[in-house]
Amino acid sequence: MPIKLRDTDIAVLNALLKDGRKSLRQISYETGISTPTVKNRFNRLVNLGVIKSISPILDLSKMVDYAHGGKSKNDRSTYITNIRTEYEQQHQQLSSRKKQHRKDFDIEIDKRMALNIKCDYCKTPLAGKIYLLKFANFERFFCCNPCKVAYKKKYSGRINAMSKTHSEIKC
Ligand SMILES: [Zn+2]
Repeated sequence: MPIKLRDTDIAVLNALLKDGRKSLRQISYETGISTPTVKNRFNRLVNLGVIKSISPILDLSKMVDYAHGGKSKNDRSTYITNIRTEYEQQHQQLSSRKKQHRKDFDIEIDKRMALNIKCDYCKTPLAGKIYLLKFANFERFFCCNPCKVAYKKKYSGRINAMSKTHSEIKC
């Protein structure tokens, strides 16, 4: 059995799908879930890799080449034109799908969906109990305690270095 989504996960995901710019406090206000819980669930979804990133969709027609002072609009070989073409191609499939199948695209997360997460050590799909390892801002997920112990041993150098950096930033 895959891992069930909590009601709080569903609320946080749907709030961010509507607008990724929302602050955790705004999501809290909207959903009635406390800000620390929103923060915990958001971090968990990031650490699980469910939220891959939150990034802006740019309108590159609002940008020009600095060197040309914006006076070379018709020059197809300018730096920004090339970047824009590449960016638009990447987003073309996305935006044409959005126009044709709006319902498919504006997804909403609900209870029919569950998490398909693999053990960070042995890659077995996680089910039921999860063994959690926290260090710095990171969380790793394991199917059993031996996997957690083995992972900790294998990456002890990296984990210690990251925990150290994190505590230095905090102070
Ligand atoms: Zn495992």
